[in-house]
Amino acid sequence: MAKVIAIKIGGAAFDSNDTTIEDIVYLQQQGKLLVVVHGGGKLITEWLSRQEISTRFVRGERVTDKATLEVATAVLAGLANKEIVAAINSLGGRAVGISGVDGALIQVRIEDIELGYVGEVVKVNTEPLEALLQAGYVPVISPVSLHSFDKPDDAPQILNVNSDLVAGEIAAAIGAERLIFLTDVAGICDQSGKLLPRLSASEAEALIASGVVSGGMIPKIKACIRALATNVTTCIINGRQPHALLREIEGQGGGTTIYK
Ligand code: ADP
Ligand code: MG
Repeated sequence: MAKVIAIKIGGAAFDSNDTTIEDIVYLQQQGKLLVVVHGGGKLITEWLSRQEISTRFVRGERVTDKATLEVATAVLAGLANKEIVAAINSLGGRAVGISGVDGALIQVRIEDIELGYVGEVVKVNTEPLEALLQAGYVPVISPVSLHSFDKPDDAPQILNVNSDLVAGEIAAAIGAERLIFLTDVAGICDQSGKLLPRLSASEAEALIASGVVSGGMIPKIKACIRALATNVTTCIINGRQPHALLREIEGQGGGTTIYK
């Protein structure tokens, strides 16, 4: 199978900038093979408050209980996924939405019992992705996944998984040539807020250890490092910039590249 570009679209993709969708359609029409992974944390938070479901935190991280898992599944595999798939198809692209559950694409076990129903990836079944790519579709992946490893009898069959980590695992499993994170900042910044254009994996890890990198940037770095086990180019770019994706692929990207 020819080389694939794995793209993770974050919160910025749900805002007004739809040039990312235009870029996806354009690149597909140029014959590029693309796989898209999306998150939806902000949308989940919005729907949890609409449903008046309260959230418990452990060490700053949201605990995914049964009710939260149901909302996360509905929002990620439903609303968030279908909006992206609809946008791509409406612009003349060919996209199919798929979650980690479908075709047993992403198989997981519970990561940390204290955080509830959150999975860590054990296995990726690339067959459904290869079938969709061969048929000319962009698979658009939501990160809810199949709880097929070490499942206690009373635990749910679906677990929520961090979408950045899913993107890293998918990129590694399909041997992607590129892994591109579109986010809402210019890239990884140092303590004074200055963009760092290139970081080695160990430099990036040191930024996590020193606290310069925090929150939602941590799993992106981990995902890049995970994917770097294979022969991939990884970067984190600003999805709010018009045509950031196209510019990156054409070699004019402005974000942070992480290398082995
Ligand atoms: P996404 O929806 O793209 O996953 P997140 O909010 O989860 O976005 O992650 C991106 C965020 O990471 C940035 O908006 C920023 O607040 C945070 N962040 C933490 N440390 C850094 C850093 N050193 N450089 C850049 N962003 C950082
Ligand atoms: Mg995030």
